[in-house]
Amino acid sequence: MKRVFLETYGCQMNVADSELMAGVLERAGLSLVDRPEDADAVLLNTCAIREHAEQRVLGRLGEFARLKARRPELVVGVTGCMAQHLRSRLLDHARVLDLVVGPDGYRDLPALLARAAREPVAEVRPDRDETYGDLEPRREPGVRAWVTVQRGCDRFCTYCVVPFTRGRERSRPLADLLREVRHAVEAGFREVVLLGQTVNSWHDDDHDFAGLLRAADAVEGLLRTRFTSPHPGDMSDRLIAALAECAKVCPHVHLPLQSASDPVLERMSRGYTLAQYHEVAAKLRAAIPGVALSTDIIVGFPGETADDFARTVAYLREARFDSAFLFKYSARPDTRAWRWPETVPEEEKGRRLAQLIELQHAISGELNDRWIGREVEVLVEGPARRDPGQLYGRTPQFKAVVFPNDGTPAGRLRRLRVAGATPVTLFGEAAEKNSAGAPLVHIG
Ligand code: SF4
Repeated sequence: MKRVFLETYGCQMNVADSELMAGVLERAGLSLVDRPEDADAVLLNTCAIREHAEQRVLGRLGEFARLKARRPELVVGVTGCMAQHLRSRLLDHARVLDLVVGPDGYRDLPALLARAAREPVAEVRPDRDETYGDLEPRREPGVRAWVTVQRGCDRFCTYCVVPFTRGRERSRPLADLLREVRHAVEAGFREVVLLGQTVNSWHDDDHDFAGLLRAADAVEGLLRTRFTSPHPGDMSDRLIAALAECAKVCPHVHLPLQSASDPVLERMSRGYTLAQYHEVAAKLRAAIPGVALSTDIIVGFPGETADDFARTVAYLREARFDSAFLFKYSARPDTRAWRWPETVPEEEKGRRLAQLIELQHAISGELNDRWIGREVEVLVEGPARRDPGQLYGRTPQFKAVVFPNDGTPAGRLRRLRVAGATPVTLFGEAAEKNSAGAPLVHIG
């Protein structure tokens, strides 16, 4: 067993876990390869948050079954949330699988792979203490480093499988995190994103999340700090003050709402009312001038009436989020909502989703149009995906900016004037090109 192909599905937490696994594998002398055809073992790091994500993984396993038919010695493994969620059922049903490893089993991955070459292995025991705090991930070189500060979740929202797949909440100690942030900066990263399911409930014996942000702010060479995803119920005044005062913390907060109807929020067990959510959003806007807010919304939750949905539409209009991740409800086994009858037909969920997408698209377009003519500071990430003749970066508000490739290296800050906008992208040009004499509004 020498070469491993690792493919990642799902959220950023999974991407960070794949980096952790890559570090564990490499330290054990295994190497990562880019193509499954070149590997002795293939691992799919999976997501269980929506049924669609699971279907994609099952489809991919079908492809690996064909590869394994030609090379029976190939070890095929599933790691992550889906592994934990479906546990040994995966081994029973998918004959292609040799290895199933839940999110708390990555430390022993090399040994598990070696065993799986001889016999089927399932390692899905939850470990309440595992934070991988002492393990250094292996990151691809880049500008943005993801640092997992906390694992698991204690909130048990009624639709969410995370507490069952990733276990109870536990935080890594501040010293471990600062060491990892410093190492990331030494490796050339300029921005860190602190990751946790309810990242703002992070704490160790002596510090809360506000303390962590302030400590990270003092790390030399770090340009920007972001974090995701905070829970509105943990957004204390102390934390909002830290967000406003830390120079490196970007003025962008992703604040999941899920629904603007109180009865739906209650059935979701989100732990706040719309009024409480709105108060948090208002405090953020008052404390951090120009802060960009984004959110998550689920449509078609069991019991969501036309009136409930209308409240969400109305609030989306009122709140004017910069962007929103909008989803149809997907029932997940093990959750409380799984047992409740689905009251919103699939077609109606699709209609509600389409209505929200159209509304949010228009709002994002209006908000982005307001940036035209302003100067922005962009952290350059590299060539634009669709056109290498252009560069790509992000503003502090997390707006994507594409601009002519002037050779600015990735990792540098570049001051640009916004010359155009779509609902998802700003188009920049050299700030000095503003020859029309229009006053530039200096932001961020
Ligand atoms: S806060 Fe709720 S939605 Fe978020 S991970 Fe925890 S249980 Fe899931």
